[in-house]
Amino acid sequence: MYNVKQNLHKALDSLPAGVRLVAISKYHPADYIMAAYEEGQRVFGESHEQEIREKHEALPKDIEWHFIGHLQTNKVKYIVPYISMIEAVDSLKLLREIQKQAAKTGRVIKVLLELHIAEEATKYGLTLDACRQLLADGEWRQMSNVQICGLMMMASNTDDEAQIAREFQQAADFFDEVKALYFPDDAAFCERSWGMSDDYLVAVQHRSTMVRIGTMIFGPRVY
Ligand SMILES: *Cc1c(COP(=O)(O)O)cnc(C)c1O
Repeated sequence: MYNVKQNLHKALDSLPAGVRLVAISKYHPADYIMAAYEEGQRVFGESHEQEIREKHEALPKDIEWHFIGHLQTNKVKYIVPYISMIEAVDSLKLLREIQKQAAKTGRVIKVLLELHIAEEATKYGLTLDACRQLLADGEWRQMSNVQICGLMMMASNTDDEAQIAREFQQAADFFDEVKALYFPDDAAFCERSWGMSDDYLVAVQHRSTMVRIGTMIFGPRVY
């Protein structure tokens, strides 16, 4: 097995206090997850509905599962019964569906709004203006089974560290803008999910509270 335990500790030791690690286990087998679990890791992230369901069923029930991928509205009902956080909400339509399904189960689902800041045209997420509009519209305030806990984003996939830093800083500034406007008294709106294996050390310099690290812990994914 890839040296999961050692790599997990290497990642944890490199994080400043107050930054949480989401171990991204997509495409990796359950015994890799268990290796990290045995070292105390409890938060894992997956990006496919069927894979996360199978792992949720097979693995200890005190694992907090984060859905980090693009989520189709017709898949929401399958993950809502057990998901801890849906990180990549990129439309009002998806938010409405989460509210609808969460209300049926009586759960309150934590979500992050996914920003599109990176230059790649292929990345999902709300532009800053679309995010402003979603929040200004205010429908989310009536969604009593959804708790918006912050923002999530991915930086451009580039070696240009200055550009990556600019993108994280843009997200951090935007967090302050919407926090002041919409969540000034809401302590739950506090999460800034940015940083992956290759850029999390830059991300934590730009106020990330939650890093999503896969490859560094579990090795390369076999698709
Ligand atoms: C796969 C994935 C990650 C983890 O990426 P690594 O480079 O393996 O650390 C983080 N965030 C999202 C949204 C992902 O899809």
